[in-house]
Amino acid sequence: MEHILSLSYGKDSLACLGAIEKLGWPLGRIVHAEVWATDTIPADLPPMVEFKAKADKIIKERYGIEVEHVRGQKSYDDCFYMICGENGRAAKNKCVGGIYGWPFQRGPWCNSRLKQSVLAKLPKNSVQYVGIAADEPGRFHVFSDKKKSPLVEAGWDEAKCRKWCEENDLLSPIYTTATRGGCWFCHNQGVEQLRLLRKNYPDLWALMLKWDSDSPVSFHADGHTVHDFDERFALEDQGIVSADEPWKWSYLDEVQLKWR
Ligand code: SF4
Repeated sequence: MEHILSLSYGKDSLACLGAIEKLGWPLGRIVHAEVWATDTIPADLPPMVEFKAKADKIIKERYGIEVEHVRGQKSYDDCFYMICGENGRAAKNKCVGGIYGWPFQRGPWCNSRLKQSVLAKLPKNSVQYVGIAADEPGRFHVFSDKKKSPLVEAGWDEAKCRKWCEENDLLSPIYTTATRGGCWFCHNQGVEQLRLLRKNYPDLWALMLKWDSDSPVSFHADGHTVHDFDERFALEDQGIVSADEPWKWSYLDEVQLKWR
């Protein structure tokens, strides 16, 4: 039976390596579900792409295992433009336009289509290790004889995982810089991350705006779009509003009325 670590490159996931070693548990494969924005653009920002390559090298040297980057058949862009009704989405999730568009904030299609579908292809009779820490009891319900957490077994909490990563040069930049973990286009990211994306990666921001124009679903469940955020940040650039002050969406209407 194979023993497979499902690696996300977060601190808890990477610390599983230390806990597995401490427990003496078997480990045969390390698998990472790689998400791509388009056929040629990864879902990770460049600092994270670099970190993954560095971590892979360290893991190979210390544990002798090559991390397998498993990529789904479809990119985010492919799924975004998939016709509603194909594969049952229309019936389940209120199809509001011809294509999927932005994922709904609750029950997003991206997680299941881009990540879980890849990991679901792991051999059925394998044991999968997941990075759930000892102080995350709310997530323990996923455990079974086929899904285990070495962190819980070793009693490692999140603080211990971070410490282990720091000591082993395996702490991702998402914990030390403003680099975002997860997809750069995520509908769940905060306003500060969106502001940085627009400032530091204008090409990616332009793709966000294109998707936003084509989506039948608003970027945020409250109806706000990427274009709304773009206008907000433009007002900040012009010094009309400050990023440090509390924001009200009604400011956008006020400014638009003023300039009409
Ligand atoms: S990080 Fe966001 S966009 Fe990426 S799969 Fe998860 S929920 Fe979807």
